[in-house]
Amino acid sequence: MDNLEISCYIISEKEYKDNHKIFTIFTENHGVMEVICYGVRSYKSRFNKLGVLIKSLIKLKKNKKGIFFIDDFRIIEDYRLLDYALLWEIIYFFKFLKVLEFETEEENSFVYNMLSKMIDLCKHKNTNFFRVISTSFILKTLVYLKIIYFSDKCSQCHKKSNNFFLGDDAEIYCTDCKRYDFIKISDKDYSNFYKLIYLKFEDINIDNNEINYFLIDKILKTKIRKSIYDFRPAKNPFST
Ligand SMILES: [Zn+2]
Repeated sequence: MDNLEISCYIISEKEYKDNHKIFTIFTENHGVMEVICYGVRSYKSRFNKLGVLIKSLIKLKKNKKGIFFIDDFRIIEDYRLLDYALLWEIIYFFKFLKVLEFETEEENSFVYNMLSKMIDLCKHKNTNFFRVISTSFILKTLVYLKIIYFSDKCSQCHKKSNNFFLGDDAEIYCTDCKRYDFIKISDKDYSNFYKLIYLKFEDINIDNNEINYFLIDKILKTKIRKSIYDFRPAKNPFST
């Protein structure tokens, strides 16, 4: 695996030595990687077209230390021209991708394709729409990777129920299985969770302020030790 050609999103970057950068890329079939881009900070470099929010096909080679660097590239899409407020949301959302670990290439490409769909759907929408769809992306991904469990059955007894409670382990329980300190999931919240997880992005018609982020935050903190607020800007400097 000394040469690779991969489709990826550049999700973050940092300066490296005099003239270079290290890009973190989310790839279609090699998970999240850090790669060096030599000379990219020089205005003469052809690589200076690359940066965060670029979707690109890149050729990677290994340097003498065995670290991958970008040898060639072709830009697939440049999202940096979108509305600033939306870009800011996307850049924060990208932090979620760094949390993910895939066991198979199939899992990786499933999530990658879902990301492509999400960004293409959201690219001309507003930030509230993006928050709904990116929350859906997060929940769908965690269910797909079997990190969270969500269905119309109790996680304990597997019986169907009309009343659910969130346990301190972030699993859902029916009335019979719950213990005293469980949080009741309202019908509205349950229905919204269900839509966010199981509907196609384009069919989700929930308003951002209808989503119970308190419950989602509790689930993320328990299951991946992150808060939903780690993946969105506290105050978007570009929104009015
Ligand atoms: Zn039960």
